Amino acid sequence: MELRKDPITRSWVITGDDVPDAAPRQESFCRFCPDSPVALQLVSNLPGIQNAPWSSRAVVHPAPLYRVEGEPGRRGDGLYDRMRSVGAHEVLLENSRHDRQLWNASDAEIEQFLLLAGQRIQDLKRDGRFKYVSIFKNHGLSAGQEFEHPNSELTATTFVPRRVLYELRACREYFKQKERCVFCDITSQELQQNLRVIELRSEFVALCPYAPRVPYEAWILPRTHEAAFERLALNRPGTLRDLAALLRRTLQRIRSITEEFHLVLHTSPNSMHPSASLGYWKTLDEDYHWHIEIMPILAAKAKSYTFKEVYYSPLSSETAVKRLREARIEP
Ligand SMILES: [Zn+2]
Ligand SMILES: [Zn+2]
Ligand SMILES: [Zn+2]
Repeated sequence: MELRKDPITRSWVITGDDVPDAAPRQESFCRFCPDSPVALQLVSNLPGIQNAPWSSRAVVHPAPLYRVEGEPGRRGDGLYDRMRSVGAHEVLLENSRHDRQLWNASDAEIEQFLLLAGQRIQDLKRDGRFKYVSIFKNHGLSAGQEFEHPNSELTATTFVPRRVLYELRACREYFKQKERCVFCDITSQELQQNLRVIELRSEFVALCPYAPRVPYEAWILPRTHEAAFERLALNRPGTLRDLAALLRRTLQRIRSITEEFHLVLHTSPNSMHPSASLGYWKTLDEDYHWHIEIMPILAAKAKSYTFKEVYYSPLSSETAVKRLREARIEP
């Protein structure tokens, strides 16, 4: 596999014919459960709480898209750019128990997973080769879920993924004009209007975005400005419990509509990277604001409304939020 840059949009794609072997699907056991006979390449482990052998852990993905050894070896090919798919690809096991998901685990357990996520991001950002660390969860077959055990995935890449790159550029532009963070402005306007707010929980707010890409799209953001998720996770660990509760409750609401979804954490890129010395992301800490995006998958409607050139959502966020607010969930 190799990385190629689209010369028009300046975004990188991963492509090649040597697709890594898919992880064995038909195993009669779960390779990630504590009693698994498979030797896992353990990266990080958080000790168990509530009598569990461990609470949350990171392991190397059994069929990684990115490999951690070597240099990216970026080179030109006429007007094109390419590099090796150097990076990290990990599976983040959210819980030692096979049936404890982010919507039915305890807040203390979900907090451990969020802490692990913060630790992994911080650790990988110390590697100067990596520009960005993504954490995402694909739940359900049509979402591309790979393993049954409750998991998210992590990639550390030598480039910033496209959607985040667009956000970073837009946030920087907004800040240049207004000297304010666009996500802070969105959050305060949404709280004031209260048309699309799903739930407010201490420092955090869950809302349906003004211009949704899919029906019931939901975001979770901190109300206090912070560009980097890992800074909040590691410096203010007390607040993670509230975030855990809001994440759990929001996923329960989403699951009252559909079981399948994508979830992604958007945080600041690696500002330790050498190119940062050019001042390219000079206002990054002030202009970017971490958040979680949840994109539910409505199987029956997916085909008719997924017109990728323009997002089309046949349901407004003002209507979606009513159903999400009224969903019956556990306290
Ligand atoms: Zn399992
Ligand atoms: Zn902000
Ligand atoms: Zn985002």
